[in-house]
Amino acid sequence: MIPITKIEIGAEERALVLDVLDRGHLAQGPLVERFEGLCASMAESEHAIAVNNGTTALVLAIEALGIRPGDEVITSPLTFVATVNAILEAGATVRFGDVGDDYNLDPASIEALINDRTRAVMPVHLYGQAADMPAIVSIAERRGLAVIEDAAQAHFATTAEGRAVGSHGLGCFSFYATKNIMCGEGGVVTTSDAALADRMRILRNQGMRARYEYEVAGHNYRLTDLAAAVAIPQFDRVDAAIAARRANAARLTEGLDDVRGLIPPRAESGRGHVWHQYTVRLTDEASVDRDGLIDSLVENEIGHGIYYPRAVYDYECYRSHPGVVIDGSPRAESYARSILSLPVHQHLLDDEVDTVIEVVREALGA
Ligand SMILES: *Cc1c(COP(=O)(O)O)cnc(C)c1O
Repeated sequence: MIPITKIEIGAEERALVLDVLDRGHLAQGPLVERFEGLCASMAESEHAIAVNNGTTALVLAIEALGIRPGDEVITSPLTFVATVNAILEAGATVRFGDVGDDYNLDPASIEALINDRTRAVMPVHLYGQAADMPAIVSIAERRGLAVIEDAAQAHFATTAEGRAVGSHGLGCFSFYATKNIMCGEGGVVTTSDAALADRMRILRNQGMRARYEYEVAGHNYRLTDLAAAVAIPQFDRVDAAIAARRANAARLTEGLDDVRGLIPPRAESGRGHVWHQYTVRLTDEASVDRDGLIDSLVENEIGHGIYYPRAVYDYECYRSHPGVVIDGSPRAESYARSILSLPVHQHLLDDEVDTVIEVVREALGA
């Protein structure tokens, strides 16, 4: 079996977890602080506020900006449902642009959605590739919008300008079990705005400034030292992991580039792609449809994923939700029907990558 993701916990994680258990301080403490330091430098930001998952990171960022019911947030229609749920949880209204060939929010689709209730734009760096941040930031600045980055899939990805994702306003990362750096459940918000950072630290901890002094109705979004101990050692290995993912992606693309009816993912020029997923797309010219290709992968014990099978709003619970405005995102809807992710993770051996290539080529008659 060649799995789509593989979780390996190193000896360093085991040692640090045992250390936490031995010291007996399991909740938020010194290791969370260390984790925050690593996250701040990952996102080239002054501050990092660790939270218990990526969804609460997004909620915290929206709340910290003072976004209120009736305010609108523009995001991508091709994303994990958490992006939408976080906006709704914070009480805001969500609107969707469309995606470009990089599967990220197309800057050209944003402007038509902006009105006097629009407060923020929330690009998602899908599959580990930064969205077109120079264009998105320029629109946001011109129209007075906040930028919240959903960087849940993009630890250490960089933009065409060489900037870290998560450094453009408020950066939200997830450390869920299958992300490129993980601790089971965890999240962080990064920012260089001291006032927002302060507000988020308070909101994270029941709205409490000092013991039993409450400034605002807050949450318990705290991360545990136990979880931080799992994440911290992975920062030392992340360069090697990204290099291995890049090599696997390059090998896959070299092997699949000429297959009729298959479009390999494009690493946009200058952007530092970290290959959370390697996602191909089938066109009408393919000799089998997506289900046919999946059958071949299953038969040959090759893992796969569809991220995501529908535009994120395309479910009854969102179609009928008063906080969801659907303007129509035809490219996202079409891509959702034809995309397929193949294994690209850092633990793959070269001959496993070659097996993936062979099976896909054979299924598509190449
Ligand atoms: C994983 C993910 C999230 C949510 O993170 P959790 O830690 O699972 O809450 C948000 N957005 C995207 C794009 C994700 O992939």
